[in-house]
Amino acid sequence: MGYLLSKQIRRILEIIIAVVFVLAIGSGVQAASEPRNLYWGCQGADVAALQTQLNTLNFNCGNVDGIFGQKTNAAVVDLQKSSNLKADGIVGPQTRQAIANLLAKPSAPTRNLYQGCTGNDVAELQKKLKAAGFDCGPVDGIFGPQTNAAVKALQKACGITIDGVVGPQTRAALAKPIPAPKPETETPSRGDSVPRYTKVLNMVATAYCPCNKCNYPYGGQPTYIGLPLGQGIVAVDPNVIPLRTRLYVEGYGEAIAADTGGAIKGNRIDLCFPDHQSALNFGIKNIKVYVLP
Ligand SMILES: [Zn+2]
Repeated sequence: MGYLLSKQIRRILEIIIAVVFVLAIGSGVQAASEPRNLYWGCQGADVAALQTQLNTLNFNCGNVDGIFGQKTNAAVVDLQKSSNLKADGIVGPQTRQAIANLLAKPSAPTRNLYQGCTGNDVAELQKKLKAAGFDCGPVDGIFGPQTNAAVKALQKACGITIDGVVGPQTRAALAKPIPAPKPETETPSRGDSVPRYTKVLNMVATAYCPCNKCNYPYGGQPTYIGLPLGQGIVAVDPNVIPLRTRLYVEGYGEAIAADTGGAIKGNRIDLCFPDHQSALNFGIKNIKVYVLP
């Protein structure tokens, strides 16, 4: 009896070891493997994925059944010929790359979009408008009045023709960082060279320079975010102006919120000048700080 039991246990152990071994090999192969080459006779999910791609690219291989048969072979050969590859019907790295390149190409020339258009390209446009902060309502693929208004707001903000038509100019504008819509109520003093801004703050400004006197005990150290001290660097209270915010400071020019300071709390701003004398000359002033988009 004892002998039989130990024999059974040994058998079970052997099975467990065999299973673990097979699993280990399986996972090892998976982890190390590139996609396998596919050719006539192959079957599997990867064949089905290939068939979907071929059909998408109009190399018709019939039903997506996961079986690499005659039709799939013919489709692969056609694709290889059209891509100037060896037409051997074997989907290896080169053919996979050719398929990826073809899939990456836009299938149709981009059309102009305007009120009344519908489609996936309208939905894409709506997503981009939303991402850029222009509310066009739900992303529904329908270019209605709300999308029209959002496109016009974008065009206004970018200083291009306000016609509600999304053509090359508006597409190009959408592809770049977009200046936020200018608040109607706030106008900069004397309408001088203040760039587009999202917010204006009344602040008390002081001045400093990179010297040791101004930066004791940190003389010569770069700013909190790592930029070297100099003209255009300003210290702020990050609770009021987040670090890395681009600013236009009245009487000082464009700047980046790059530093903090023990005394710089609330509506205080400390402007870095190239030298100590310029900092002294500035003194302390009430100024307007424009937050740039
Ligand atoms: Zn100084």
